[in-house]
Amino acid sequence: MRVLLTSYREAAAFDGDARIGVYSAANWQPRGLTYPNADWAIPRTSDGKRIYISTYGGPSNYWPAMVDFFEAQSHTIAEWLNDLDTEYFVLACWCPYTRKAGEQLRDHGSFVCHTGPLGEVLSTFPGLEVVLDTDRLERMWTPLAQDA
Ligand SMILES: [Zn+2]
Repeated sequence: MRVLLTSYREAAAFDGDARIGVYSAANWQPRGLTYPNADWAIPRTSDGKRIYISTYGGPSNYWPAMVDFFEAQSHTIAEWLNDLDTEYFVLACWCPYTRKAGEQLRDHGSFVCHTGPLGEVLSTFPGLEVVLDTDRLERMWTPLAQDA
């Protein structure tokens, strides 16, 4: 099984392909899109509050907090994967095509997205290959890049 982590912009390429399920991994999706939500992938608390990077004071604390957040849902994720009827699925987020991500790229040369720590957690699931799109591979903030 394989998952691609990408933006809504890139995910549009898979529209109409029955072999590939596209799911929304963000609190809202762009106007006109109606992808089903992957609820466990959306950064909001169980009581519905949206989780922000600023809640954690910046990416270096946000990343491990979000790893914990997704790890805490491992059972839910495993069941969801088990119910999936395609071998290939896509999780879509806005980034980096938002004003905020654009500012991060301009000011820091990278953007911060919850699909980073999400991918880290998903890569621990046996039999699931995690693929990042080019934006994420080349321009997403990661703890490793930060240490380099
Ligand atoms: Zn994002």
